[in-house]
Amino acid sequence: MASISIYHSLNSTSFQKNYAFSPSTTQKACAFASNSSFSSKSLSFSTRATPLVPFSTLNPMNASTRSHTFDVVIIGAGIIGLTIARQFLIGSDLSVAVVDKAVPCSGATGAGQGYIWMVHKTPGSDTWDLTMRSHKLWEMLAESIDDQGLNPLEVLGWKKTGSLLIGRTPEEVVTLKERVKQLSKAGLRAEYLSSKDLHLKEPSLVVGEDSGAAFLPDDCQLDATCTVAYLEKVNRHFASKGRYAEFYHDPVTCLLRSRISGEVEAVQTSQNTLYSKKAIVVAAGPWSGSLVDDLFRETDIVLDLPVKPRKGHLLVLENFDSLKINHGLMEAGYVDHHDLTQHPGLVDQGQILSISMTATMDSMGNLVLGSSRQFAGFSTEVDESIVNRIWMRAADFFPSLKGVSLTDFTRSRKVRVGLRPYMPDGKPVIGPVPGLSNIFLATGHEGGGLSMALGTAELVADMVLQNTLKIDSAPFAVQGRCC
Ligand SMILES: Cc1cc2nc3c(=O)[nH]c(=O)nc-3n(C[C@H](O)[C@H](O)[C@H](O)COP(=O)(O)OP(=O)(O)OC[C@H]3O[C@@H](n4cnc5c(N)ncnc54)[C@H](O)[C@@H]3O)c2cc1C
Repeated sequence: MASISIYHSLNSTSFQKNYAFSPSTTQKACAFASNSSFSSKSLSFSTRATPLVPFSTLNPMNASTRSHTFDVVIIGAGIIGLTIARQFLIGSDLSVAVVDKAVPCSGATGAGQGYIWMVHKTPGSDTWDLTMRSHKLWEMLAESIDDQGLNPLEVLGWKKTGSLLIGRTPEEVVTLKERVKQLSKAGLRAEYLSSKDLHLKEPSLVVGEDSGAAFLPDDCQLDATCTVAYLEKVNRHFASKGRYAEFYHDPVTCLLRSRISGEVEAVQTSQNTLYSKKAIVVAAGPWSGSLVDDLFRETDIVLDLPVKPRKGHLLVLENFDSLKINHGLMEAGYVDHHDLTQHPGLVDQGQILSISMTATMDSMGNLVLGSSRQFAGFSTEVDESIVNRIWMRAADFFPSLKGVSLTDFTRSRKVRVGLRPYMPDGKPVIGPVPGLSNIFLATGHEGGGLSMALGTAELVADMVLQNTLKIDSAPFAVQGRCC
């Protein structure tokens, strides 16, 4: 059992609670999850004389809440919120608070498969520069961990496996050849593999003579749980310097603004009032839309953030030895997932369900099979029929699985379910809210949030710090998309 100190609002009488946890199987394999011991100091907090009014009257400020002051308050401790926190902590001298209604990995982040791939990205698309920048930053992070004498595999679950985007029809093969040309032109190492060459790389894959694949040897993957543990460790290092605090199990209920200036000055949670001197960042994944609705209700700010939850199932088979894969694999149809009507995989229009084959081996040797997409509200209940369809879809590519029943793995299988933050126009929202220059949105990364996290974090921090931006932020602007 490890013991760490964090700000924890389950117990309102004891502000700083000792938080003990037993590491799960996954956590045990992460370098920082099972043996970390952190201590955090109470950050400065002040009692404000300025009269504040809540933006929302749903949960008016409670006299018994405690107040604290930070430069930056981040709502949401998923991969987006935690990487933004890290960016401010390592790249400035600002103090940062992260607040979450639950804990990190309780949202989409905990379900993520972990591929940080370029093979299915399209050069010149709106998200291309952000993804490229982000991948560069992930690679630099892995290198810096290596330079410190640590193993990125153990710290982040980092593996450079290369990726294969697999086509099984003549039409898909033509598209893949074109994709390889585009990716090469954009400066990436990319190669088209004929069915024969593909078989040499992945002998278990049986996809027919008409098949082929785009191969990106430099594509990498990480383990979201390990990576989050690492980010928390880095962030908590700054707690001892009085620059960082976490407020978990403490949902945000409204924003508070000054009666005098009209400026938003604080975030109200169920237990705390968190004053922000510089910026408040909403990074609450698919909950950001309803949260923003609540936060801005009864104000003159018109903001419609159309992010919605896109549920995904992932099947994890622990220590699976009936199948060996050497790379990260994805079927070509995955690329069209944004538009379900064009999806060549299994599509059930009635349920608006799509399933595309993705397969990876994680850092512990577990086979991870994905994935489904559906709009089913905020439910994260496991649907066994979807799990079976993921299994059957994988068996279409790996016939050796056809003779194996999923029921043989009831003890050694796990199903991860998460809600991807989906934006109808297929790109995240990153930037300030017009009319409220200290409120920033960072959400809507759908199936690419792990991949785009470090680039998003850099962008948000550069915007707040008024640094020169490394990429064009226009495609991600709030204006014109949410208001
Ligand atoms: C099955 C599956 C596989 C995926 N695979 C990949 C992959 O291989 N590669 C990739 O790049 N991406 C992948 N993704 C997508 C990726 O996981 C997401 O894009 C990413 O995790 C989104 O991160 P986030 O921080 O925005 O959201 P989340 O991780 O959902 O975090 C949002 C946080 O906000 C908190 N919150 C909500 N409301 C409040 C409130 N009122 N007050 C305080 N806190 C609040 C929540 O508790 C939550 O912790 C996958 C997703 C799924 C579902």
